[in-house]
Amino acid sequence: MKPIHLIPISNGTAASAAPGIELLEQLAPALARTFRTPCRIKLQNIDVTAAHDERRRQYHSTAILQQMERLVDPDARVLAVTGCDLYVPVLTFVFGEAQLQGNCALVSTARLKEQFYGLPERPDLLKERLIKEAAHELGHTFGLRHCPDWRCVMASSHAVERLDVKTAEFCNNCRKPLIHNGYW
Ligand SMILES: [Zn+2]
Ligand SMILES: [Zn+2]
Repeated sequence: MKPIHLIPISNGTAASAAPGIELLEQLAPALARTFRTPCRIKLQNIDVTAAHDERRRQYHSTAILQQMERLVDPDARVLAVTGCDLYVPVLTFVFGEAQLQGNCALVSTARLKEQFYGLPERPDLLKERLIKEAAHELGHTFGLRHCPDWRCVMASSHAVERLDVKTAEFCNNCRKPLIHNGYW
């Protein structure tokens, strides 16, 4: 059973500055509870400059994951949290990406913030969305694919509205690989 390491990514432009350490300090115990494994913040430098697309003003998430895979502790499940807006070439944006059955996952807080949609800041909502998105991407590292149950955290969500209606929990079906890996 691997522990979870949270890595804040501090690179990027000023507008997409690193997520605050307080936010990660709230995320860590939530993930430790969900996955029933130790979760701690680890400060490590992940250089995302090469993943930057100047025309799109976004960062290619797959390139960051590849970079992470080379650098991080292979005996941990690693989730990087960035303020940079992420994309994959076929989509206008992604909230995050993970290596299916791998060790590395990545989430962005950029579009989880109400300010992104021109609304007043809601720290409670940001935290809730980040916990769901983080659990979702980590779920992919256990080999989980998207779930048809809209309440399940593995339900696909390409809009914050969808993120807000689902729960932070894995349904009984999606829980199976977690049990199999000794997490439950
Ligand atoms: Zn997904
Ligand atoms: Zn499910």
